[in-house]
Amino acid sequence: MARLIFLGPPGAGKGTQAKLLADLAQIPHVSTGDILREAVSQQTELGKKAQSYMLQGELVPDQLVIGLIRERLNFPDAKPGWILDGFPRNVTQAHFLDELLLEINQKCDSVVNLEVPDDVLVIRMLSRGRKDDTEETIRRRLEVYREQTAPLIDFYQTRGQLFSVNGDQAMEVVTAELKALV
Ligand code: AMP
Repeated sequence: MARLIFLGPPGAGKGTQAKLLADLAQIPHVSTGDILREAVSQQTELGKKAQSYMLQGELVPDQLVIGLIRERLNFPDAKPGWILDGFPRNVTQAHFLDELLLEINQKCDSVVNLEVPDDVLVIRMLSRGRKDDTEETIRRRLEVYREQTAPLIDFYQTRGQLFSVNGDQAMEVVTAELKALV
């Protein structure tokens, strides 16, 4: 049983690692990016609202992702645990998560911060070929990360919940370090 948050810049390998660990622990991997991309491809109301922000590398409005997380963490399969990947992405979302967890009587166990240097991130993102992985969007996503998401490192560090892992290593090495940690 585990409740984890994965922090880290875009391209750090959060998705890959979070999915591996979630499969191992048999708990849901909750990626707001995946959920939003699915909504865009299905052209749901959420998807239509989110897509222009995503293509520009901007965060989609808080109220959209907050609603989505509230719904997802209330699913029965998320009772025993979850791994959040890509949420929270700013301080407002982190405060919302605190409140939601209080409300549903759950507690986050740890926050994992995957550290990867910028030049490596850019190379990794360019090689994924995702729609929002153009050079310009990548630059913007890194800026948004630095401005809005990176402050969460201190936010969780102060609470003693943060663990940093060097994400600039072979995938298996990162996985092994994460397993040892959680
Ligand atoms: P990701 O797959 O986590 O890199 O997310 C892809 C895109 O989805 C981001 O660039 C944002 O536009 C959007 N997104 C994902 N998670 C969030 C979030 N928690 N808050 C706002 N926007 C998000």
